[in-house]
Amino acid sequence: MAPIGFIGLGIMGTPMALNLLKAGHTLWVYGRRPETMTPLTAAGATACTSPTEVARHSDIIIVTVSDTPDVEQVIFGESGIIHGARVGAIVIDMSTISPTATQAFATRLHAMGVEMLDAPVSGGDVGAINATLSIMVGGQPEVFEQVKPLFEIMGKNIVYIGGHGAGQVAKACNQIVVAITMQAVAEALTFARKNETDPARVRAALMGGFAGSKILEVHGQRMLDHDFKPGFKARLHQKDLNNVLQTARELGLALPATALSMQNLNALVGRGEGDLDSSAVVTLVERIEGIVS
Ligand code: NAP
Repeated sequence: MAPIGFIGLGIMGTPMALNLLKAGHTLWVYGRRPETMTPLTAAGATACTSPTEVARHSDIIIVTVSDTPDVEQVIFGESGIIHGARVGAIVIDMSTISPTATQAFATRLHAMGVEMLDAPVSGGDVGAINATLSIMVGGQPEVFEQVKPLFEIMGKNIVYIGGHGAGQVAKACNQIVVAITMQAVAEALTFARKNETDPARVRAALMGGFAGSKILEVHGQRMLDHDFKPGFKARLHQKDLNNVLQTARELGLALPATALSMQNLNALVGRGEGDLDSSAVVTLVERIEGIVS
């Protein structure tokens, strides 16, 4: 099996890398905070001191960091992948970042003899742990076919979308639906509470009908429990909607409901709660209704 590099060991990266190790792959890992590498080295991975060192040892390098500038730094920065990558190596970016920046990164890498796929994921920390992620892929179809077995270790619903950046476009669509549905679930559960009707029973009833969704199931439960341990950090969701709205602006496209969701995430992050799960948007609705102080 080809040696694999893995960079970015947060809520998503750690379980995804662990699943590759469990499947028998050799992994070279880099976490910016060295302690984040401990669960991986305990499971048999080799710790590296930089993305350059990861790339020196790997044919395929997976990146799961936060935002567009982070991906740029990890690939092209001073101790970035490009300083260690072999000709013919493949970089798979599984972070959620800007589609246009992705196209530019792929072009720059291609000029150096390195191929790139954008392969953002959906399914949250639960999907990463259980290897049930949805993976949406952009890039050259033959490169996709080459690395598809790795995606099958980390996910269940693997869809090739199109050329470079197309995976990120699909993921942006995902984030639009998630954000607007989250707001709808927050408002519905608050409406139930204000009507002195048990929101847990309302959620249970809605789950079986047309209003049923993963968001109602997973995030609805988090809202009922007020358990906002991330999950998916509000500041990362804010970053995604920012990318969506910036692209929409460039296209001259109005996305009013997405813009409203973005305002609520702005308020949450502005309150210093950006590291809470994004389902904490329910507290904004509750506050308007005077349910919490
Ligand atoms: P996270 O827990 O905050 O982890 C991000 C990781 O990236 C951290 O280990 C961080 O290192 C590392 N990192 C960030 N910038 C870096 C840089 N410039 N150089 C090196 N390492 C860097 O976030 P996450 O939830 O795993 O999300 C990762 C990506 O997946 C994001 O793009 C997110 O939007 C996407 N995603 C998340 C979910 C979810 O449910 N959580 C679902 C789908 C997609 P430090 O530890 O040093 O900060």
